[in-house]
This record gives sequence, structure tokens and C-alpha cells, in this order.
Amino acid sequence: MQGGRKLLCGAMRLFLRGSRLCLKQGHRRAPRRLRHLLSYIRLLLSSLCYNSLTNSELVMDCLFEPVFWLVDLLTRWFGVVFVCLVVVLTSSILMIAYFALLPLVLRTYSPIWIAWHICYGHWNLVMIVFHYYKATKTPPGYPPQRKFDVPSVSVCKKCIIPKPARTHHCGICNTCILKMDHHCPWLNNCVGHFNHRYFFSFCLSMTLGCVYCSISGRNLFVDAYNAVEHWKSLDVEKQGVPVTGVGLLIGILPPGSVTGQSYYQTSPPPYTFRDKMFHKSVIYMWVLTSTVALALGGLTLWHAVLISRGETSIERHINSKETKRLQKRGRVFRNPFSHGRLNNWKLFFGVEKRSHWLTRVLLPSSHAPYGDGLTWDFSPRRKDMMAI
Ligand SMILES: [Zn+2]
Ligand SMILES: [Zn+2]
Repeated sequence: MQGGRKLLCGAMRLFLRGSRLCLKQGHRRAPRRLRHLLSYIRLLLSSLCYNSLTNSELVMDCLFEPVFWLVDLLTRWFGVVFVCLVVVLTSSILMIAYFALLPLVLRTYSPIWIAWHICYGHWNLVMIVFHYYKATKTPPGYPPQRKFDVPSVSVCKKCIIPKPARTHHCGICNTCILKMDHHCPWLNNCVGHFNHRYFFSFCLSMTLGCVYCSISGRNLFVDAYNAVEHWKSLDVEKQGVPVTGVGLLIGILPPGSVTGQSYYQTSPPPYTFRDKMFHKSVIYMWVLTSTVALALGGLTLWHAVLISRGETSIERHINSKETKRLQKRGRVFRNPFSHGRLNNWKLFFGVEKRSHWLTRVLLPSSHAPYGDGLTWDFSPRRKDMMAI
């Protein structure tokens, strides 16, 4: 192990000398960006070779740095693609709902069912669009760069600034995020203190919308699926088996036009192009919404559990490790940011009075979250955090 480390250090020193030589020779010719990169590599190698704290773990971290950088860069670019995908897929479902399903609902349903579908569908649509827009556009919250009187728990190695409690560094955004939950490629944004509520409400309303489409469209889906199977079987029959004579020479003949002679077994097409498009659209809508309902429903449920516990996705990992560590010592871990299940929900949604359950949870609301994301109330659990 010791020999391997010496060998590694020797190789690095050799590379350092070589790079110094290259830098001197190509100083005038090399473009500015390349010179910067070479001097950065030199600085990195110097800090690794002449640092008493250097160990194999640190060297491996440095070697894998370009890989992490590439992954972060790709995720940043894929974020734009994913946002476009959400907009395109949601718009396609809306087009089907408005141009194919709504006329059918208006033609065949009773007035009560028409009112229900129009009211619920539009409420759900407003909730999805509002919360998605707010989740993507609201900055998650950043710690102050210059103000150092904020209570902090550590210093970020990348930003070189104090980190307040619950703050974590996002490699994709390349900055520290207050109460960071995760970086969401579907939003192309980090989920943090100021947009966590928008993210969860979007997930919930999108899941509800997909479940609504899946349940209300199941009979239409079965009919459409059977219709597709039927026209497929008709297509097979239409190709037919020519027997002899005129049919073979002329091709497709109208049935019965050549009495007593052979012809293709064709019948007038029972499905028009419009019918086929309708059935295919219904199948596409049902499959897409059912799949999203299952996948996003699972994610929403998981986030609901985390909110009930008063922790973020990152804190879940930290807290479960801490729980195991303390368990071995015979002690019990207690999350200092949890104030009881109901209070955690009230804090999360910013519910301060009863009417807020309607105006701030069930209707679109752009109120600011509770607290500034820098300081946290560590007081022991109270029965009721907010007077209701
Ligand atoms: Zn940072
Ligand atoms: Zn991020």
C-alpha cells in the first residue's frame, strides 16, 4: 500500500515537471483557455504532491472529478429536454381531451356528469400548470455570499462559504441550496426551501390528473382496443386470397360485381380515418396517463412520507445512518426539524388558519414558505405550532 502510494506520487511529480516544461515552451502559442486548464492541472498536482494530507481517497476523488463534471453537464442539458418533454406530453393529452373526448362527453353524458368533468378537469389543469410554472421558475433559495452572521453548521468545500443547517451543495446548479431536497431534471431546477411546496403540489396534481384520466377513460380504452383489434383482423381479411381468373387480373373488385366468379373478400371499410385516429388517441392517452399515475404516484407518496417526518430526501439518508449509529450505542435518534406529523404538514403548506387549507392548499397560491431557510426552530415539539 505504502509502495503504491510512493509510486503514484512519483508519477505525479514526473507529470508535473513535464507539464511545467510544456507550459514554458507553449506559453506564447497556446490559446488562453488551454493555458488556464494547464495551470489548473499544475496547481491540482502541486496540491496533491506537496500536501501531507493527501491519501488514495483524495487522489481517486480528483481523478473522478472530470467524470462527475461530465455527468453534471449532461444532466444540466437534459434538464431542458425533459422540461420540453413534460410540456409536449401534457399538451398532447390536453389536445386529445379537448378535441376528441369533450365533444363525446357533451353529446352523451348527463348534465351533472358534464358539470363534474368540466369543473374537476379545469381545476386539475390550473393546479398542474400553476405549480409546474412556479416550481421551475422559483429559485430554490441560496445562502448569502457575503453576510457571515448567519448561524452555520459547516463550510461548503466548493463555494467556500458557511453552510446554514439543512443546506447542501448541488453539483448540477454548482451552488449551495437552502433546505435542498434534490435536483429535479423534470423541472431543470433544484428543489429547495422556496419551491419545495410547488414541486410537491405539482406532483400531487399531476398524479391526480393522470388517475382521473385513467379511471374515467378505462371503458373508452377497452372499446378502442377492441376496435383496433377488429380493424386489424379486417385488414388481414381485406388482403384476401385471390382464387382464379378476373379477380387476379383486375385486383380488388367490388363484391358481387362478377357473379359466379372469384373475387377478393373485401367489404366496405367500417372504420373511417377519423375513427381510427380517435381510437389510437384514446389508447395513447390511457397508456401514458396510467404509466405516469403509477410512477409519479409512487414518488408523490414517498415525498408525502418525508414531509410527514419533517425531513428532505437528502436528510432521509443522513438520518437513517444516524439512527443506525445511535442504535448501536443504545440511543434513539430524534429529527430536530420535525414538529409532529400534522404540524409538519401545516408548516410545509404554510397553513396558519383553517381557511388556508382551501386557499393555500386546494387553490393556487404564491405565498412564501414558513421561515427564511437560514435559521430553524429547534424547540421541542409543541402540540400546535400555529394557532388555528
Ligand atoms: Zn456549495
Ligand atoms: Zn441543482
